Amino acid sequence: MSLIVQKYGGSSVADAASVRRVARRIVETKHAGHDVVVVVSAMGDSTDELLDLANQVSPSPPGRELDMLLTAGERISMAVLAMAIHDLGEEGRSYTGSQAGLITDSAHGAARIIDVTPGRIRHALADGAIPIVAGFQGVSYDSKDVTTLGRGGSDTTAVALAVALDADVCEIYTDVDGVFSADPRVVPAARQVPLIAHQEMLELAAAGAKVLHLRCVEYARRSHMPIHVRSSFSDRQGTWVVDLAQPLPDIVPISGGTVEQPIIAGVAHDLNDCKITVVGVPDRPGEAALIFTAVADAGVNVDMIVQNVSLEETGLTDVTFTCPVAERQHALDALAAVQEGIGFAGLRSDDGIAKISLVGAGMRSNPGVSATFFRALADAGINISMISTSEIRISVVTSKDAAGDAVRAVHTAFGLDADGEAVVYGGTGR
Ligand code: ADP
Ligand code: ASP
Ligand code: MG
Repeated sequence: MSLIVQKYGGSSVADAASVRRVARRIVETKHAGHDVVVVVSAMGDSTDELLDLANQVSPSPPGRELDMLLTAGERISMAVLAMAIHDLGEEGRSYTGSQAGLITDSAHGAARIIDVTPGRIRHALADGAIPIVAGFQGVSYDSKDVTTLGRGGSDTTAVALAVALDADVCEIYTDVDGVFSADPRVVPAARQVPLIAHQEMLELAAAGAKVLHLRCVEYARRSHMPIHVRSSFSDRQGTWVVDLAQPLPDIVPISGGTVEQPIIAGVAHDLNDCKITVVGVPDRPGEAALIFTAVADAGVNVDMIVQNVSLEETGLTDVTFTCPVAERQHALDALAAVQEGIGFAGLRSDDGIAKISLVGAGMRSNPGVSATFFRALADAGINISMISTSEIRISVVTSKDAAGDAVRAVHTAFGLDADGEAVVYGGTGR
């Protein structure tokens, strides 16, 4: 008998019929002799709809109240799922994040899990019930207020619970058959990856492949928790996200030695960044430190940075960086506040950008990967405005309009195209 944590994403529980279908799947797992703990996301696009509502009411809703509102989405899905399980003759018992022991810091909208105390979940299992936990939410240790973990955070709830309960596997059920070599909504010829190392998945998630929440992969890597990403609409094997440096656990139906890891794991794209340029910065020591201290103090996550060569006649330079669009106004406000002190000329920002990234552990030892990448973009007539690299990733910034063509061109150039078309079972891609 295994203990399995199953997480169902919004598209898997989009309506009443889907909730009943998922309930059948959960009950089948229990009848196969396993203990099951379920984590569920809000139904369909309801989190987006709640956000739209908040923004209609107020241009800048307080974080505490926004979290209280958004957590309502998961409260609905957990309760209806428990009802559907009752109808199948098993006892589903729903729990909010707080009741399930998901303790976080107080960073509303991006809270970090600091402890998991799932006493009530263990009791429910001991009683033979199926605990259903609301994903994406917790309770602050300090303020006791309800918090959320950031968009897509139910994946992280699931892995955190799997680790705390010492589960054998954390299954993430979504609307595609697993992790693909690119987003199947953008690249129909994307190829499903049977096995991927935590480290490569981490880079893909950080580069915008939203199939898994970044923090969930970080958590799983630290705790060596295997994740099985699969579709709730089919019975196919999905993708195993595992620690490839260790022997694979018995639950993984693939023998590690027989699977040759490809050089490239995949191509990811991110449409949620913007570009900010600090114009006319005096070219003297310490200026970059002042700029990025101001931005960091505003809680803005900077990704790529480029500094132009300064013009000899003016001694001025431009510094450009990217950050999430949602943080753009904080960054601009923070910089405007230090403009006089630093003495730069002005600020420009651009939302019409996309970040395209190529990820693969084999890039370390294969020269020519960047050349092929840039050649593919050039042949497709796509202009690059920024470049950054890490050991196993290359990222470029292009215009948003060119994103789809850029991803497809790079995917083809690295020979990743499959013969058939990837299946997208549901969801709106929102
Ligand atoms: P859920 O509601 O189940 O959490 P998400 O929308 O968060 O689902 O994540 C699943 C989606 O992630 C897919 O429908 C797909 O469009 C997108 N996606 C992006 N990159 C990838 C990738 N490399 N492999 C699979 N899916 C991806
Ligand atoms: N419902 C939340 C969201 O849409 C959390 C999740 O789906 O993981 O972001
Ligand atoms: Mg998700």
